[in-house]
Order: sequence, then structure tokens, then C-alpha cells
Amino acid sequence: MSFLNTHSDGKKMVDKVFKAAIKAIEAKEKFGDDAVVDATLGTLFDENGVFVAYDSVWNPFDKMDKIEKARYARGIQGNPKYREAVYKWLFGDEEIPCEIIVSPGGAGAVSATMHNVLNPGDTLIMPSQGWGPYKTMANEFGLNLTKYNLFKNKGFDLDSFKETLNNIMEKEGKVLAIINDPCHNPTGYTMTSIEWDLLLTYLNDLSSKGPVVIINDVAYVDYCMNPSWKDHFLKYKNLSKNVMVVIAFSLSKTFTAYGMRVGAMVAISNNKDELAKFKDASIYSARSIWSTCNNSVMELFAQISSDEMLYTNYINEKQEYIELLKERAKIFISECESEGIELYPFTEGFFATLKVSDDTEKEALNIRLQAKNIFTVEVDGGLRIALCSVSKKKLRGLARKIKNVL
Ligand code: PLP
Repeated sequence: MSFLNTHSDGKKMVDKVFKAAIKAIEAKEKFGDDAVVDATLGTLFDENGVFVAYDSVWNPFDKMDKIEKARYARGIQGNPKYREAVYKWLFGDEEIPCEIIVSPGGAGAVSATMHNVLNPGDTLIMPSQGWGPYKTMANEFGLNLTKYNLFKNKGFDLDSFKETLNNIMEKEGKVLAIINDPCHNPTGYTMTSIEWDLLLTYLNDLSSKGPVVIINDVAYVDYCMNPSWKDHFLKYKNLSKNVMVVIAFSLSKTFTAYGMRVGAMVAISNNKDELAKFKDASIYSARSIWSTCNNSVMELFAQISSDEMLYTNYINEKQEYIELLKERAKIFISECESEGIELYPFTEGFFATLKVSDDTEKEALNIRLQAKNIFTVEVDGGLRIALCSVSKKKLRGLARKIKNVL
């Protein structure tokens, strides 16, 4: 008999990102920084290998009264000013029927939504190439997992998406699926507007058979190259009554505020009663699991987004890093093309992923790369390269080095 219950007995977290990052740190200690390509961490580093914490965010934070930093949040649902600021950040002046609940990062938003939408034994639907913790969360809530194939002919595989959701709807009478768009982790893909239109038409049709819930994980939305990508959210105005989209928003990447643990569930639906129930259940979950979120960063977000000067400083500083990511991607993607290295379809964002379908081959390749002081992260169907953390200097010639190991 264990102290733990049957569900938790034997649970052990092995985080592939942190495991790979530790190996990279050891290599840097042994061989020096210049000799190592550390493409493991999903956080921004500048061209000198220094962690990026935006001045435009953290200088105003330093000026904030200590009481704001010390006190509890104004409410479990999140500070009213923060919720208003999130609404404006995502939707501007448009009218979208939604409820906003603060969460500890995007992870909290994704996890609480799974918990409140599915019963243990139900099935979570995720992409074939997706963020690892989705699986951990599903397991934590006793959910089964099934995957749609993400790509076909260099674009979104709508047929697989439909087939997967149809199957689960037939069996379980309801679906919850995750779409990590734009700037997918780990592939860097962003779906086209037409792909979204087709997908949403399908979801509206499917909802005649039962409730359809989509988690739109937008952790990287503020790194889109298209400045008007957020117009995409207007498409959610036309959801059928039996469809709800929960946007998982996060300040981790948006504000380089990873450790502050602030995000939000932004639930959108034309079904007012269901929206109200989702809000109530989310507040209940918050109180029972993490209680309140970080007050000072909620206030900081409201302050920066409503002050013209602070906001302009922020946008300008972030834009420098969007440009940098673009330059890094250009180097790596074009060199991979020249070397004939296959990547998953890439558009933009923090990551690109080498395609290695066979698991044994993938592990072996990763070990060979590590022996050459190149550190990547093993993901489903490939090896992830974090463009956000590798300088242009180190990216130049990286494809050739990988090719030699291949
Ligand atoms: N979703 C994806 C795809 C991510 O890559 C991350 C962070 O790495 C998150 C969500 C959530 O991050 P956080 O909980 O720090 O906001």
C-alpha cells in the first residue's frame, strides 16, 4: 500500500526540454560557450547569448509601488483592469461575446480548460506535433489522448482533423481539441486564413452532433510577422451556439515574463448560459488549485497597454526581436534547404523542427548531435531547434553540421 493514491502512485515528471538544457549547460561548462549550440530553451536570448527581459516591461515594473508587488490580486477571476486590457489586446474595439479569467500562464489556462470540459476517461485531441505538457496534463486528469495528423502537402491536414474529431464525436458525443496557432510549437507553422475558414465551417457543422470545444493556444501570438494576425479572432463571432473556443493567452513570451505566471482563459461562445457556466467553473478551479494570480504583473500589463508612451516603447522593443527571429529563421531554413534537410512546414516564431519520423533514429541522431555539442529537444516526430535562443553566428553553418551527422 502506498501513501499515494492509485492515480498518482508512480507518476514521475521527465521534462525533455529541461533535461536537454541541463546537458547543454554541462557542455558549456566543459567546452566553453562558443563551442556549444544550445537550441533547447523556448525563451528569447540576444545575439550575445544573454537572456532577454524587455526594458520596456521591466523598467516600469521596477517603478511600481512595493505594495502592488506584495498584495493579493483584486479577485480570483483576475483584476478588472487586467481583464479589460486582455480584451483590448486581443480584440481591440470589436465586440466579441467572451468571458476572461486570469490563469497562471498559458499552461494554467490549457490545463483548467481540460479539467472542466472533459470527464476522466474522455479523450483529448491534440496535434501530432505539439507541446509536450498537453500529454502530461491529459494524464493528470485521467484523459485519453488521440492525435490528428498536423500536416499534409506542406499545409494543415484538415482531412485528418475532421476524421479524428468525427470519430470522437461518434464515440463520446462531445469533442475537445487543441490548436496551437499561430507560430506552432514545435514546428513554427502558422495556419492560413483559408485553412481556418474551412476548419471553422467544419466545426460549426460538427456541433449539430454535440458540443465542440477548441483550445486555441496562442502563447506566441505576439511574435507573428503579420501585425494584423489578431483579426483572425473576429472569425469566432460566427461560431454556432454549440461551439466554444477558449483562447489560452500568456504573458510569458508576450512580455518576457515567463516566471511571473500570468495568462488567461478567454472563452468565446454565442451561448451565453454556457459561457457563464464556464466562467463560474474556472473561478472555482482557480480557487481550489492555485487561488489567485500575480497582482503586480496584471497591473503592469494594464498600465503598459493603456499608456501610449509605454506601449510604443514596448512594441518597438518587441519588434526588434520579431526581426531578429526572422533573420535567424532565414539563415537556418535556407541552409537546411540547401543541405536537403527536411523540416516540418515553417512560417515563423520561436522554433523549427527537423523531421525524423522513426523514434530510434531520432534518439540516435540526437546523441550524435550532442557529441558534436549541438543540443536540441526530442519532440514527436523530430528534433526541435529553438531559434529564439541561438545567435545568427551559431546558426550559420549549423545545417551543414547537422547534415554531416545525418
Ligand atoms: N503553449 C505552448 C505551445 C508553449 O510553448 C508554452 C510555453 O512554452 C505555453 C503554452 C505556456 O507557457 P506559460 O505557462 O509559461 O504561459
